[in-house]
Amino acid sequence: MKFILVFLTTSCLAAQPLRVQLVTGGHDHEPSIYALFDNQAGFHTNVKPHPQAFAADFRRNTDVLVLYDMVKTGLAEDKRARLRDFAQAGKGIVILHHAICSHTDWPWWFEEVSGGVYNEKSTFLHGQTMPVKIKKEHPITKGLRDFVINDETYQHLWISPKVDVLLTTTDPTSDGPVAWISPYSKSRVVFIQLGHGPEAHRNPNYQRLVQQAILWAGGR
Ligand SMILES: [Zn+2]
Repeated sequence: MKFILVFLTTSCLAAQPLRVQLVTGGHDHEPSIYALFDNQAGFHTNVKPHPQAFAADFRRNTDVLVLYDMVKTGLAEDKRARLRDFAQAGKGIVILHHAICSHTDWPWWFEEVSGGVYNEKSTFLHGQTMPVKIKKEHPITKGLRDFVINDETYQHLWISPKVDVLLTTTDPTSDGPVAWISPYSKSRVVFIQLGHGPEAHRNPNYQRLVQQAILWAGGR
């Protein structure tokens, strides 16, 4: 009986949805992105724009930070400190699409945490029909097969040689890697370059990718 109670208690704890903080702001986007976060059994999402998202210590109420914002430069030092504290606390960070354009003036962030950055040398192209190849078997790519998506491509990013690439494309307007695990060891960080507009947001492969990335980043 005691064993059953213990088992039930741990089962209930394990079933607690992850607390996701989705950060927006600094870049236009279409509302189709929000459907990815709605009505998910594994996680519950709160949306906050930057810089308010980093105005207070959010380690206690957040398991996974999902960045869909863009702050190219100049994030204030106190807000940088909160982002750094969160990363160092062993939490989860999912960086989506234009959030890779953030913090071009913060080398620690892009060299160690995000594993890449869209800088002044980088270029973009909208509306590409691109093949996406699963490069690595991983909980984030589980159940997915190579797919085609209509999305924006980025090229000439700076990418750390230490990233672990999950997805690639042969689209000639892309660098190739379109999703990777960062080398950062203190928390689980994943970057997914896909996700500009409704064509991507409504693609079931993209939805599964983002949802599995959140669960993985949260340690599930
Ligand atoms: Zn975009």
